[in-house]
Amino acid sequence: MQLENEEGWEFDRFLWKKNIPPKVSFMLWAIFHESLPTYNMLIRRDVEVQSEVCVMCKMENETADHLLVNCSYAYEVWSYFLNAFKVSLVAPNTVKAFFESWRMNSLSGRCKEIWWKIIYAVMWHLWKERGKGASGGREKTAEELIMLVKQTIMLWLINSDVFRGYDVNQILFNWISLLHM
Ligand SMILES: [Zn+2]
Repeated sequence: MQLENEEGWEFDRFLWKKNIPPKVSFMLWAIFHESLPTYNMLIRRDVEVQSEVCVMCKMENETADHLLVNCSYAYEVWSYFLNAFKVSLVAPNTVKAFFESWRMNSLSGRCKEIWWKIIYAVMWHLWKERGKGASGGREKTAEELIMLVKQTIMLWLINSDVFRGYDVNQILFNWISLLHM
């Protein structure tokens, strides 16, 4: 059995990564330390909230694991990227397990570099989108969110060689063929 502290330490290695903005690392840090202010977390801390139901699917209680991994909305977004990379994950159902299983693949080179940005970019945008939904705004469709994730990854990798020689349209609209070229 692992001690809680050891486990926390182990996940810190996923936090501070090259080309990942600090705001995204801070969000993950909060998740790994069980302090992301989801409805479930707020209720546990005796903060009054209007609802405890996930604003994205409106079906289940909102926890970080639900919102970022198990929610049907998140599932649509993850499925798109898993299919694009031809990777299947063994149904992880917590954020931590998700990070662990993200390592299990045989990708290399450019593909692998993009792959490791996706998990951060998707979680970041799911959380941001949830914030909008919670304040009454319209949520993006899964397709819109996928496009936003691609744009974000492009920005994060703008100073690297990963997309050198490709134009923006190729990256955004011809994503699948670009990965496997
Ligand atoms: Zn949901």
